[in-house]
Amino acid sequence: MAENRSICVYCGSQAGNDPVFEAAAVTLGRSIAENDIRLIYGGGTHGIMGAVAGAVISGNGLVTGIIPEFLKSREAGNGKKLSFDELIVTRDMHERKHTMFEKSGAFVALPGGIGTLEEIIEIMTWSQLGRHKRPMVLANIAGFWDPLLELLNHMGTTGFLHSAHLAEPLVVSDASEIVPLIVRQWESGSTGAGDREVIDRM
Ligand code: AMP
Repeated sequence: MAENRSICVYCGSQAGNDPVFEAAAVTLGRSIAENDIRLIYGGGTHGIMGAVAGAVISGNGLVTGIIPEFLKSREAGNGKKLSFDELIVTRDMHERKHTMFEKSGAFVALPGGIGTLEEIIEIMTWSQLGRHKRPMVLANIAGFWDPLLELLNHMGTTGFLHSAHLAEPLVVSDASEIVPLIVRQWESGSTGAGDREVIDRM
């Protein structure tokens, strides 16, 4: 079993225009709380970010929000508050992303925009380079990530994926299956957050 039972969720600061996205975030958040896993996320209170964190909090679960100073000021003015038990304020986006990485035993991308895409792709890049072996899950709600999967396939067929097996995310279309899948991966011992020495050298 991995020592670090925390799941980092990358997701949209917007809600998107289909209610299934927010519903999936709530399902994932509940499941994280029920399984005594800590949510690590970007600290936003709106959109899919607010939905997933709100669901963990409603389920009496643990939440760490990690937010850069400039976004915290923006969040302070939006009138919505979430009482998560740990808030880490970072100097900038780079420090935020590295802190999220260090604290997490697995990574999930729910639907989101450019920020979400950048965050999960970075984690896949580090996996491809052998910097970690932790589970990475694309929550393919209503086929949201199909275009990315198509692009990855295209990169493979055109000869640009040098270590595709290392970068390959797990793809799950039902949000209730995400946590059980990650827990199975942790328990199998094939992946996990026990690779701290790798983090230090990155
Ligand atoms: P996007 O998918 O483009 O909505 O971006 C999601 C990511 O953007 C989050 O993981 C955060 O890195 C960041 N982000 C954007 N707006 C906010 C906000 N108001 N509060 C916190 N993080 C935000």
